[in-house]
Order: sequence, then structure tokens, then C-alpha cells
Amino acid sequence: MGRRKKIDLTKIEKIKSPKTTFQNVKGMNDILPKDQFYWQIINDVGRKIAKLRGYYFIETPTLEPANLFKFSVGQYTDIVEKEMFVFETKGKDLVALKPENTASVMRAYLQHQLNYFSLPLKVFYFDRFFRYEKPQHGRERQFHQFGFEILGDSDPVYDAETILTAYHFFDELKIKNIKVRINTLGCKNCRLNYKNNLKAYYKKHKRKLCKDCQKRYQKNILRLLDCKEESCQVYKKEAPIILDYLCNNCNNHFKVVLEVLEDNGIFYEPDPYLVRGLDYYNRTVFEFNEIPPEGDSQLNFELGGGGRYDYLSEYISKKEVPAVGFALGVERIIELLKVRNIKQDKKEKVKIFFVAVGEQAKKSALKYIHLLRINNFIVDEALGRNSLKAQMKMADRVKANISLILGQREIYEGTIIFRDMTTGVQENLILNNLVEEIKNKMKLNKD
Ligand code: AMP
Repeated sequence: MGRRKKIDLTKIEKIKSPKTTFQNVKGMNDILPKDQFYWQIINDVGRKIAKLRGYYFIETPTLEPANLFKFSVGQYTDIVEKEMFVFETKGKDLVALKPENTASVMRAYLQHQLNYFSLPLKVFYFDRFFRYEKPQHGRERQFHQFGFEILGDSDPVYDAETILTAYHFFDELKIKNIKVRINTLGCKNCRLNYKNNLKAYYKKHKRKLCKDCQKRYQKNILRLLDCKEESCQVYKKEAPIILDYLCNNCNNHFKVVLEVLEDNGIFYEPDPYLVRGLDYYNRTVFEFNEIPPEGDSQLNFELGGGGRYDYLSEYISKKEVPAVGFALGVERIIELLKVRNIKQDKKEKVKIFFVAVGEQAKKSALKYIHLLRINNFIVDEALGRNSLKAQMKMADRVKANISLILGQREIYEGTIIFRDMTTGVQENLILNNLVEEIKNKMKLNKD
């Protein structure tokens, strides 16, 4: 073996910390460690509910064929017309960053013939989505949804089941004041009749509508009811409502959904103009909003929404797969928890901070840290810092519950100092029996 060249440490230039020149892309935010607490809670709550209610996790790719959304969400919807991030790959495929997941889940269901798995198939996801919107409070270009979908059954009890699932989610997060606005969009038959009447009504007001609505009038009349422009609201108020055009089957379907909700004490608000911004919905549609505490103003966004989409599968393939589902906006729910100061239970495990002072202690430290970690203890350290003071400062900063302090003397004596970070009380433990000794200490503290 050749002799190693000795490195002259005095000649290593100090690298100056680079100035950050890049910023995040507009509307696409970093999720920093300080906020991870909320994200973890949402993840835990969502997964717990999914397990209790029989939903399986599903993950679909970030990129999908752009046409998937054109054919399902709808060519003349804002999402597809204005908000999709679409580009051509080097192989000339036209792809889109997923603006939502329902179409992707249905694509996966059909592609992999998931009907064999269970009928209906219940799946959930926690994913990020992209829409080129004007970023504002509660509206980002990259955002996350926690969603639940039930595929393969047209029974109205499943519409109610999805709404109950959402309430279960809110309840677990201790969000109590939620109302669901609900409507039905009927089926192909009754909706056609309704659309004709809507068109006849809007014909007389056409010229006074906003530019977008004038286009919508030609291409997709239902989308007029989505319009947020002040000038169009007056006309919406007088517009015909679908309830007057429902066929018997759709009427009964809606009745059952509402009855089950009432049976479960769900406070719903019928909204005959709720159509949601996606074309694939039929029959039940719904959105969740906070009921603001008295004297407080309403947060100006809905927290989630969904509905039935029995025809979506036919837009993607020839198969009929009735389905229903919803998605909750994760950023918006976290915002609500913060604004309303809704405290969550911290079920965090005890955190140990390992302090090693002196070269020999530092060298042996990893052995004990590793031993603790494989015995399921959370152990943090700042071994790169030399002094006891600097390491203890870090223990405070990471909010450790316990510090274990190993110095020259402790190594010599075969002990380690156990320090309760809340009380400051210290005692020595036997190093050779560290795991057992700590387990015993924890038991004692619990009693
Ligand atoms: P949608 O997929 O449009 O039915 O939206 C479902 C939920 O996702 C909404 O109720 C919002 O909570 C959330 N959401 C939709 N778009 C955005 C966005 N641009 N920024 C943040 N959250 C969003």
C-alpha cells in the first residue's frame, strides 16, 4: 500500500456560505421542518381513518397524459383550459402535471382491472397537485390533497359514506364547525333537459355576462353557475334549478343520501347552484366549509369537495364504473388549524439527546447511540460540537426530554449521566446495561 499524502489543513480555503440566488417557483411552497408537525398529524389522521373504514392506499404518477384530463375533467373547464401545466416530452408525448387525482385513480383502476380486488374498491391518497392559478391566500400552484374514492358501486349509501368519512377526518382533527353544501347534478337524461332550460334562460342575459361566461354559454352551459364574477351573480340568482328537472331515479338517489346524512346528524345545506368546477360529476356533489365562530369572519375558501362520477370511466374507456369520492385541501386545513388555534394531541415519543465530551467519549458514542436506536429510542446528537455547553444548547433547541452525557470520567467508571431535561435532575446509569436502565427509568417516570 502506498503512503497516503498528508493533507495540510492550514491550506484548505474557507468556503464562504453562498448567497441564495434561487427562490421557489411562484405558488409552489417549501414545507419547512417547523410545519412538519401539522403534516404528520394530517398524515396520521388520514391513514387511521382509511384503515378504520377499509380504504387502501393508491399512488399515481405526477405526470399523466394531458388528454386524460381533457376528456374527464372537461375541455372547457378552467382547470383544463387555463390552469394545467402541460408540456411535450422529448418523445413528443403531451403530458400534464396532475391537477387532481380522480381521473388518475380511475385510469389506474381501468388499466389494472382493479375490480377483481374488492367491489367496491375503496382507495385513498395523499398527494401533490398543480394548477396554474393566481396565487393568493389558500390558493397555490402546488398544493396537496388527501382524498378518498369508492369505485364500482352506484348505491347512494356510498355518497353518504364519503361525506361521513370527511366528517370523521374533521372530527379527528378536532375541527367541529363544518357544514356541507350539497346538490345533485342528475343523470345524462335529466341534466340534458336542465341544460336546455338553463340555456334558454341565459339567452336573454347573454350580452351582459362576463367574457368567460359568454364563451361558457356556447361551450359548457353548466360552468356559468361556477362563475365568481360579481356582474354574473344577479343572473345566477334567478336561474332555473336542477331539482325541478330531476328524473325519479335521481330524485330517489338524492333523497336517500340526505336521509342517511340526517340519520347521522350531519348538518347539510342544500345549494341548488353548486356544480363544482369539473365536468365528470353527476348526481351528488358537495363541498365542505367552516362555520366561523361567532363574531369571526369566514375563511374565504372551501376546505374540500367531491361527488359522484358514474360516467368518468366511459370518458377514459368503454367500461362503466360508477364511483364517488372527495378530496380535502391539506394546506387549507392546516391554515384553519392555525388560524383557529385548534390544538392537536402530541403523542410524540421521548426524545433522547446524546452528549459526548472528549475524544474518547465521542469515539464510543455512536456505538451506544446506535444501540438505543435499534431498541426504538429516538436519539439526537450534535457530536460535531465539542463543548458540553454547545451540545446541551442543542439538546434544548431540539426539545429533548432526556440527555445522556458521556465524558472521560464516565468512560473510566463505566457509567453515563442521565439528565431529565424538564427537572434538571441527574443520576448515573451503568453503561453496560444502558438500554435496560433507560427502559426502567421510563417505567418509573410513568408510574
Ligand atoms: P377540487 O379538486 O377542485 O375538487 O378541490 C378539492 C380541494 O382541494 C378544494 O376544496 C381545496 O381545499 C383544495 N384545492 C384546490 N385547488 C387548490 C389550490 N390551488 N390551492 C390550494 N388548495 C386547493
